[in-house]
This record gives sequence, C-alpha cells and structure tokens, in this order.
Amino acid sequence: MSNQTRQIVQDSLNALLEDTAFLPELQGDAREQAFTSLGSILSTPNHVHKSFLRIALENGSVVRIPAFRVQHNNALGPYKGGIRFHESVNEEEVINLASLMTLKNALHDVPYGGGKGGIILDPRTYSVKDLHLICKKYVQYFSDIIGPDKDIPAPDVGSGEREMDWMMAEYKSIRPGQPYKGSFTGKSVVNGGSLGRREATGKGVYFTFRYMLHDFMKDQRKFLAGASNDNTFARTALKYEGRPLKLAVQGFGNVGSVAAHEAYQCQYLENKVVAVSDRNVTLFNSDGLDIPALVRFSSLHKGDLPTTDEQLQEAGVKAEIQDRSKVLYLDVDVLILAALEDQIHLDNMDKIKAGIIVEGANAPVTSEADQYLSDKGVIIVPDILANAGGVIVSYFEWMQGRETQFYTEAEVYELLYKQMKTTMDTILPAFFGDPFPLRQNCYIHSVMKLSTVLFRQGKLY
Ligand code: NAD
Repeated sequence: MSNQTRQIVQDSLNALLEDTAFLPELQGDAREQAFTSLGSILSTPNHVHKSFLRIALENGSVVRIPAFRVQHNNALGPYKGGIRFHESVNEEEVINLASLMTLKNALHDVPYGGGKGGIILDPRTYSVKDLHLICKKYVQYFSDIIGPDKDIPAPDVGSGEREMDWMMAEYKSIRPGQPYKGSFTGKSVVNGGSLGRREATGKGVYFTFRYMLHDFMKDQRKFLAGASNDNTFARTALKYEGRPLKLAVQGFGNVGSVAAHEAYQCQYLENKVVAVSDRNVTLFNSDGLDIPALVRFSSLHKGDLPTTDEQLQEAGVKAEIQDRSKVLYLDVDVLILAALEDQIHLDNMDKIKAGIIVEGANAPVTSEADQYLSDKGVIIVPDILANAGGVIVSYFEWMQGRETQFYTEAEVYELLYKQMKTTMDTILPAFFGDPFPLRQNCYIHSVMKLSTVLFRQGKLY
C-alpha cells in the first residue's frame, strides 16, 4: 500500500474512532482494539502471489516473466481487479492498486473485494503468439486462486478483451464442466462480455465531472452558495458554473479516449477538449480538437496519436504537436489524468493550472501534490470515485454470465449512471459541507462500510 493510501485510511480510521455514534457497540478498550485491527487489515493484503511464467518464445528463446496476483481484501465479496501488462509493474504497485480496488468497490457498493494482477513486460515487444502463451501460462500458474467466486481478473493497462478471452478459455480448459463465464470480465461480447464494458470507465470518469458541475449544481446551487463562505472547493465549483470550459486529457487509451469523446459530444456543459496526449505526444488546439477523428486514427495505429504533420494530415486533424508532458501544464480549467500513476508530484505540482483534476488513472497524483493542490482549492475527483465505471460494469457482466441474460448497451449505461449518481449524491453534500478534500470524504465512506462489515463478520479481534 502506498504511503498516501495508508495515511488517508489511517486518518479515516482516526476520525471514525473519535465518532462514538459510529459502531456504538464498541466502547473503551474493545473499541481501541477493533480500530487497531482495522488499521492492520486494511493496510496489508491478504495474499501476495508471485510466479515466474516460463515461456518458450516464438524466436526460440526461453524466458521467465515475473507475474503477480495480489488479493487485498475479500470482506465484501470475491477479489476483483485488472491485470496490468507493463514493463514498470512491481510488487508494491500491484499491492497499492489492489487496496484501491477494495476501497473503490466499498465506495460504490459493488459486492467485490479488492485484487490486482500484473505481468512485468512490454506487450508491444511480443508477438501475438507469445502473448497468447503468456496469458495461458498466467492462468495455469494462478488457477488455484482465481475463479468466479474467488478472484475475478479484468483488463488493465496493456491488456484488453483479447487477453481476457484467452484467459477465460484457458480457465475453462483447466476446470472442465465448471462455471467459467464469471472467471474473467472485460471479455469480448461474443465470449460473454457486457455491451458497454470497454467504454464504461471513460464514460464514468466524464460522468463524475459532468454530474458535479451540471446536475448536482443545478439542484444544489443554493446549498453551494451558502457553503462557499467557508469551503474553498464550493467556491471552485461555483467559479466554473455555466462557463465555457477548456479540458485537457492525459492518456488516449481505453479510458482517456472515451472520456475525451464524452466531453466532445456532451450537451450539458459547454466544454471543448483543447489537448490530448499519449506516451509520445501532446496535441493542442485552442479551438478544440476533433476527437472522433483522433479516435479513428489511433484505432488504425496501435492506439497511438499522430506524431508528425503528415500523420495529422492523414487524421484530418488540426493541432500543434508538443512534448508529451506539456498536457499537464496547459492553461485549462479541467485536467483529466488517464495514463499512469505519479504524474503530478512534488517537482511539477506548482506548474498545474487546472482548477479541477479528474483521476481516470489510478493514483496519478502523489500525496504531496494532492495536499498542495487541495490547499489551493483545486478539486481533485479521486480515482476510487471517478474510475469505477469499469468495475461496476464488470459486475453487470458477471451477473449477466450467471443469469445467462443480456442487457442492451442502453440498459448497461443506465445502470452504470444510476450507481455512480447514488455514490455522488452520498459524497458531494459532505464534500461541499466539510473542509476535507474529496478523496478524504470518499475514503471515510469506504472505510465506514468495510469497518461495519468486518465488525459484523466478527473479524475485529
Ligand atoms: P491503455 O493502455 O488503454 O492507455 C494508456 C494510455 O496512456 C495510452 O494512450 C498511452 O499511450 C498513454 N501513456 C502511457 N505512458 C504515458 C506517459 N508516460 N505519458 C502520457 N501518456 C502515457 O490503459 P487504460 O485502460 O486507458 O488505463 C489508463 C489508466 O486508467 C490506468 O491507470 C488504469 O489503471 C486506469 N483504469 C483503467 C480502467 C479500465 O477499465 N481500463 C479502469 C480503472 C482504472
């Protein structure tokens, strides 16, 4: 668990310990003891599995590729979380991502625990045949600990529905005759995936921002105006109300491209996406970028944005080509972070100009930067609130596999937004009423839920 996650969980526990109306059955020494137990349960994973996948590559060499499956907590249901395929994967990172999944599922009332997987490799440097073998081996090595009621992986950075299809098929071969559809989510629709799963995270990311600045604002304007005397975040939200907004999006993959597209076609807010970026470039146009054209281009170029004037011409897009890190420092109102962790940190936090940051990626803002920006009144919509669309629709996929009944795309989005709206309506009034950043509010909510469940299960001894 990262220091940031640990610290906020501990702060939440300290606040709840003092609040004697919370779990009033626990008093005196028993209360102290229970909260100490909670601290240790939530700050450590239940299991860390590590294997070295032995792979005979197509080029004749035989390699061992390190792979992880971390199971953080399953108090609320089976472990759940993606498998990241990236060269920078490491054990600490996977543990932190697994703990964020526990908190995210608790926040949105998804009946899952938290897990995460990772394979240390750059998938772009392997052939399709090699990747197929790597996926099969991952399932073979971890087949005892995963399964529809134990631990349900999904895609993450570097993996997608192709990998989930391969993995589910391998699980089915290893466990013939047993239920297998729910063993992986994020599968292709023909293999039992849910309509709308691929778009769910990006849509949810944009929804959280739009809901706060439009729907919530519309109904709660008076409350916000009242709160704005003492609450800097309420002042920030009011500052952006009804104004044309400039957005920048870091990362143009599964999450970033969909979030950018949602902004591009949004009819509720007057906003334009003036910049997008990926691992190679930032593209900037102060009049707004043609996002559908960029989505088309990237789908034909292994997910990459245009990097040269010729490629911009091929895409039919007008933009300035800038360094990839430039996206972070532009003079925009809203910055959506949808690439990797630790993008805003001690060394660059003072260059950020956006007043609202939405965390599509997990943990893209370090604790120092989080504190610094929050103190300045920047609203940071945290990962566990903003990027839960994927796991919420994964849950619908898992249910559809069980019920052998399928929802239309419109039904999936309706259910997704209903769930996210419920969470937002629980969290936002407290956020604009309290002096705490949104992340702290979300964590308190998650920790309350997990604490109550663990207490009722008799686990706090
Ligand atoms: P992806 O692999 O589809 O896309 C990642 C994007 O980030 C690509 O455009 C890539 O070029 C870009 N990128 C990589 N390194 C970069 C760098 N150094 N600077 C700028 N851009 C860079 O991944 P994704 O599925 O879109 O996931 C993005 C983030 O969202 C990750 O943190 C992931 O954990 C998180 N997330 C994803 C989902 C999901 O359903 N896909 C759900 C929850 C959270």
